[in-house]
Amino acid sequence: MTLPRIKVLALGGTIATRPDASGAMQMGLGADDLVAAVPALATLAAIDAETVSRVGSHSLGFDQIHALAAKIAVLDADGVIVTQGTDTLEETAFLLDLLLDRDIPVIVTAAMRNPALTSPDGPGNLLAAVRVAGNPWVRAHARALGVMAVMLDEVFAASDVLKIHPTRLNAFAAPQTGPLAALVEDRVVPLALPVRDAMTHTRARIGDVAGAREQPVALLWMGLDEPGFMLEAMLDHRDQLGYRGVVLGAMGGGHVPERIAPLVGQLAGLLPTVVSPRAGAGGPMLRQTYGGPSSEIALRKEGLIWGGRLQPLKARVLLETCLRGGLDHAAIAEVFDAWG
Ligand code: GLU
Repeated sequence: MTLPRIKVLALGGTIATRPDASGAMQMGLGADDLVAAVPALATLAAIDAETVSRVGSHSLGFDQIHALAAKIAVLDADGVIVTQGTDTLEETAFLLDLLLDRDIPVIVTAAMRNPALTSPDGPGNLLAAVRVAGNPWVRAHARALGVMAVMLDEVFAASDVLKIHPTRLNAFAAPQTGPLAALVEDRVVPLALPVRDAMTHTRARIGDVAGAREQPVALLWMGLDEPGFMLEAMLDHRDQLGYRGVVLGAMGGGHVPERIAPLVGQLAGLLPTVVSPRAGAGGPMLRQTYGGPSSEIALRKEGLIWGGRLQPLKARVLLETCLRGGLDHAAIAEVFDAWG
């Protein structure tokens, strides 16, 4: 039997840390180290390992993920596994999904417990990711599955996976949809195919963004009685502080405190401003239920872009990508509309 050819691309993260003299964990391991730590991989795949970087995912940049996507787009392999930190995995996996359209499995994995701890999860997650990448059902449905995240024996869609805890082993979930597959013993058990209409529509509208420049997007979380000073600063500054778009982590079904509704409306006239739900795991927002100056009906009339079911971190990634693609306000609103 010919083993699948799996490319492992290592970016860094807890999975790739080792202790320094003080005992603090530092980035250090490369892709070869990660693969060497899991001898069982050799029975599942012909692995080609490459160290792309040794950085914590909290310090990754959009441009690095664009470069990674460009690399993956032309790889001659049967599957690709990206190892990185967990902190931004929910964003990088979604960005890769926006940028890639391959018919081979592309999987992101990571670790919550570092290699110096008892029962680190990195080796098991890497083994699971390789098992998923080589699974016949996954390979047959690779394009339909899109980019996946494999953590703790579950497979999640990039659009839906969230980091829901800062330290626990079971830190990843897809609360809106659940996992696409589960691993048990040596099997990958299929559970669902993701609904990809919004992703397909978005990709078609955004087109090729290769070489496009960074488009900074502010993420402003709306809390109780938010006074709006950041909004005022953005309105007063001649270049909106350098931001090209804004995502508001809005309350409930799409509301902001009434005291800042005029500021939000003004900002929406200057920059694409997306309203995204701060509550829990994201989810479709209201469009036509509540009246009043800072409710969804009023904000939509003011030109706020309705973020659909994506939670704010993913909405920010999508807005940045739309702006790189040169989409105007109307086109961005249409893209977000496809997300519910
Ligand atoms: N903050 C680091 C990173 O995201 C470590 C966290 C982790 O990998 O779990 O790379």
